[in-house]
Amino acid sequence: MLRNTVRQAVRSRAIPALPRATGAAPAVRTATAPLHTTARAPAQYKRFGERAAGASSATALSQLASRFGGRGSPNGGGRLGGRAPLLIVVVVGAGGTYYVTHLERVPTTGRLRFIDVSAAQERQMGDDAYKQTLQEYRSRLEPSNSAQTRRVRAVAERLIRTLDGEVTTRGIEWDVHVVNVNEKNAFVLPNGKIFVMSGILGICKDDDGLATVLGHEISHTIARHSAEKASGFKVLMAFALVAELCGLDIGISRAAATLLLSLPNSRKMETEADHMGLELMSKACFDPREAPHLWSRMQASEGGSGRGDVIKGLVSTHPVNSARIKSIEKWLPDALQHRAVAGCPEPSTVSGFRSAISDAGERFMSEPRFAHR
Ligand SMILES: [Zn+2]
Repeated sequence: MLRNTVRQAVRSRAIPALPRATGAAPAVRTATAPLHTTARAPAQYKRFGERAAGASSATALSQLASRFGGRGSPNGGGRLGGRAPLLIVVVVGAGGTYYVTHLERVPTTGRLRFIDVSAAQERQMGDDAYKQTLQEYRSRLEPSNSAQTRRVRAVAERLIRTLDGEVTTRGIEWDVHVVNVNEKNAFVLPNGKIFVMSGILGICKDDDGLATVLGHEISHTIARHSAEKASGFKVLMAFALVAELCGLDIGISRAAATLLLSLPNSRKMETEADHMGLELMSKACFDPREAPHLWSRMQASEGGSGRGDVIKGLVSTHPVNSARIKSIEKWLPDALQHRAVAGCPEPSTVSGFRSAISDAGERFMSEPRFAHR
């Protein structure tokens, strides 16, 4: 059924696509570094003259805090007003209850996290971002029947076929677009639309490498990472409110909350997508042992030695490739076990087959870009 859904989506005319790394794209990427394989944050629309939702919320919180004697108050001077302690108790109590009643587990990994964005809201965020993305990349979208698109789509469909029904019930209609742009990147929208930049295809090298990238992207959607991020933003705002009520400078408290909560969570999601993607590609009978090689090639293409990556990894939302490789190697025995349970042939048996696919892939890769235009 999921496959049918994919085919239906595939049948629908491919439309133009997505944001550039350097463009002032409304849909925000989660890192400034080249984002290989990242769940794309939903776009935020706003009317002309309308303030961003975050800014409005911040202002409202600031005003609220000011009323109760926070530092932001002209009269507060950093002292708590008489009613502030009671308000803090109410906010923390109500917020804590709300938080606990909106905890849910990530499929596969079982990680507990806070989510208060419904599946329908998440799909809508994805649909909005999809329109913008297609519009942005409209002139560089690979045709849906091109060799490259068909190859990427074939690998994606093979991965999606292994998903269980839980994702289907969320009404996700998967689709894949290849964008002719020399970026080593791929991302997925919350509605299951995957965009692969053609610059990453050479790094992928073969279908196992491609399955590593696509498995990661599909896993972001299965795990509802976009909804989790949107929900996490609310938590940050709640922390900012309490900090403001306590007289802390709201700017500083927000920055601290971002560092303490947002970045580690984002990196956790990336690592989780790596882990889930590895399991997914294994169940689909790809060779998970190729995943570390993909990230090695990515690292080499970026000229990274792996040493200077440490600092980058601390401040980035993305795990550095060397850390990624170590984690994946640790998960490999389990991944191979999943592969065996799925009844896949031994990877060594498949290697000849994979070479054949790879050869075909090389031919596809060697086709002149934009040849169809
Ligand atoms: Zn990612």
